[in-house]
Amino acid sequence: MTSAGLTSNASAAPDVIATVATSADVLRRPGAGEHLLTAVEKERAARFRHESGRTDFIAGHVLVRLCAADLLGVPAAALTLAQHCPDCDKGDHGKPYLPDHPGIEVSLSHTRGVVAAAAGHRPVGVDVELTDRGGTLLDVAPRVLAEEELRQVREHTDPARAFLRLWVRKEALVKIGRTTLDGLASVDLSGLPLDLPGGAPLLSPFEGFQVLDWVDEAHGAAVAAVSELPPRAVALDALRA
Ligand SMILES: [Zn+2]
Repeated sequence: MTSAGLTSNASAAPDVIATVATSADVLRRPGAGEHLLTAVEKERAARFRHESGRTDFIAGHVLVRLCAADLLGVPAAALTLAQHCPDCDKGDHGKPYLPDHPGIEVSLSHTRGVVAAAAGHRPVGVDVELTDRGGTLLDVAPRVLAEEELRQVREHTDPARAFLRLWVRKEALVKIGRTTLDGLASVDLSGLPLDLPGGAPLLSPFEGFQVLDWVDEAHGAAVAAVSELPPRAVALDALRA
């Protein structure tokens, strides 16, 4: 437990938080909405051909502000989010960051109707996928899994679910810069448990990182967050903003 509210957040110990929620719930928060986005983000939002994709994009970019605002103890509206792609040097996609708060690292992920975001005093990567996508994703398993991981997935009682767990972990590791999309098979997570006891959030060490896994059954989502510090899963309603 923290003594939030009693002490200034500026003096709080280094922390990493992650949240998952439906896009609808994020945008239902008081003060949440597209108006929080920068002109660059609004332009990107406008390019989505489907309203659902646009909504998920906006919700993800709002949720990451809510996470960072909670950590900083400032209103979400006070935060500017920028992105930078190291491959093409463009600013309308790629790794998100807060230009005005270089000490805070952020990450975000959106899928159909569900978004996840993280903020911390250390680099952080987060990924969310819907559990019903496991079967579709399973087709790429031989390309993205290490040999031992592939064996574990094939022997699992629910291969699609087991694969999805590895997939969100690997995507989170891509976001933190530990690997690339081309290098997924070279990361071997077979030493980490594939099942979460009782569905509770699970923390596992991997190299110098702490991997937080959880399943959001209410939203049908598998989530993983990776950082040097153990990420904490925080409910949307618990975020101050
Ligand atoms: Zn790029």
